[in-house]
Amino acid sequence: MLKKIFCSLVLLCLLSFSVYFWYQLRYSNVTESSRKVLLSSLKDSQSEDGLIKSGVDYRGIRLELDLGKENLTKENETTETKTHELKKCPDPSPLLVGPLRVEFSTPVSLDTVRKENPGLQEGGRYKPHDCVALQKVALIIPFRLRDEHLKFWLYYLHPILQRQQLDYGVYVINQDGDNTFNRAKLMNIGYAEALKEYDYDCFVFSDVDLIPMDDRNTYKCFRQPRHLSVSMDKFGFKLPYNQYFGGVSALSKEQFLEINGFPNNYWGWGGEDDDIFNRVSSRGMSISRPDSEVGKCRMIRHERDKLNDPNPQRFDRIQRTRLTMNTDGINSLKYEVVKVEKDPLFTKITVDVGKP
Ligand code: BGC
Repeated sequence: MLKKIFCSLVLLCLLSFSVYFWYQLRYSNVTESSRKVLLSSLKDSQSEDGLIKSGVDYRGIRLELDLGKENLTKENETTETKTHELKKCPDPSPLLVGPLRVEFSTPVSLDTVRKENPGLQEGGRYKPHDCVALQKVALIIPFRLRDEHLKFWLYYLHPILQRQQLDYGVYVINQDGDNTFNRAKLMNIGYAEALKEYDYDCFVFSDVDLIPMDDRNTYKCFRQPRHLSVSMDKFGFKLPYNQYFGGVSALSKEQFLEINGFPNNYWGWGGEDDDIFNRVSSRGMSISRPDSEVGKCRMIRHERDKLNDPNPQRFDRIQRTRLTMNTDGINSLKYEVVKVEKDPLFTKITVDVGKP
């Protein structure tokens, strides 16, 4: 009798052990595909806050679930990065509208311009939200006592530059004091100061009184230095002469450095743009231009500035560009920053440029 009981006990033990072993084998041996199924079923049970709410509560499976949870988090992170990884903006921008009505009879206020451009960041900075801009452009405006013109410039240009989907910043380089104006030196300073703020790859130099009449005239850089104000109302919507490079021009960082920037010693009106043209052609580059329809622009009429009389030395200087350009330029630039002001629409840098 005792022997029988003992045998039954041994059998019972054996049975329990085999059930236990079968159970261990069955559930600890989750294959790669079953793991994937688990993971995908887990995906479905993920809530918006990213936590897994359901699961199976026995050890082996739980482990798989926890691992799955970890993997899923990573997987989701990559998908999120992918959706945030923006594509390059298309060229040309699909937001362009073409010809624009430009007029200066109704004054504009800076407040209106600020309200109409809510997407700007402090200092007149902007970048498109849904794509990566093709270029990072610094807009440099040589300036002194032209606040009314600046308002029109900001009013027209900010919406255009945003439609052109540029990553841009506006820099107003204000000559301090009342010495003779020096446009080219202010532009050199704009280049240097803008680069201290951001890794710009293109520099558009614009007179404060020139407004494009077509947003297809993109304020960006091209393979060759670009002349943008090719068809000005002041000149009957044509170039005054073939070598004309005044008004608005764009140079990439490389092109700018290739010509050693601009001359620093043209004081007063005229000649500095011809010197820049000479620099460009002496380095074997040509001028790229939009056609005369797209390149139309309007100039705000004004009296000639005081302290910016025509420079009598300009004729002589432009004959000597090749001799002077290696020593006079961005490599010899000296100035002092007097004040930096940040407006939502622009960065104004007041500078002491010295005197003639
Ligand atoms: C001057 C330039 C000026 C052009 C058009 C030339 O004589 O040298 O600086 O841009 O005339 O006005």
